Amino acid sequence: MALQFQIMPVTPFRQNCTLLWDDNSGEAIFTDVGGDSGFLWQEAQALGLSPQAVWLTHGHLDHAGGVVALTQEHPMPVLGPHPDDEFLLQALPQTTAEFGFPVSPAFTPERWLAEGEQLRVGAYVFDVLHIPGHTPGHVVFHCAAEKLLIAGDVLFYETIGRTDFPRGNHQDLIDNIRNKLLVLPDDTRVIPGHGRMTTIGHERVYNPFLQG
Ligand SMILES: [Zn+2]
Ligand SMILES: [Zn+2]
Repeated sequence: MALQFQIMPVTPFRQNCTLLWDDNSGEAIFTDVGGDSGFLWQEAQALGLSPQAVWLTHGHLDHAGGVVALTQEHPMPVLGPHPDDEFLLQALPQTTAEFGFPVSPAFTPERWLAEGEQLRVGAYVFDVLHIPGHTPGHVVFHCAAEKLLIAGDVLFYETIGRTDFPRGNHQDLIDNIRNKLLVLPDDTRVIPGHGRMTTIGHERVYNPFLQG
């Protein structure tokens, strides 16, 4: 009995949508539904799960572009990101068209998130940490009991998020990673928004952006 997860890369950007569930209660959620919502729902159903919410780390199209398609088909609340990413959710019709994604309407989540809030999947509590830098309203989800971090586009295996987008800020990103993520236990597992998993301990030692 434990917190379970399955990473399902979606969209041409191979964004790591993650299905999180409590295998005791069967409660489940999706993080970052960038696209391919029909595929995501089928994968959940194949595991016997009917996710009850979407949690968003930030408003980029590869993380939020499939939310409306999913929730129109399977109504469920959308939680996050921080309201400073509202401009990105409002821009989805343009950005999805520009990148050749299925066009997404703009939307407003049922609940914006802020530093210090807590979300639950069954018995498991996740702390919301606000990590601006990649986008101004980026949040990450940390389950201290299970040492699991849903990191979105903040921290990747041996690299960090790009900051050359509108309202990106490299120093904010570095400072927030140092102050809020590198203080977590070394064996904290990190699910990044793209690519392979890592740990806080590995990034502390090997991430070239976080040395010195
Ligand atoms: Zn992003
Ligand atoms: Zn991304």
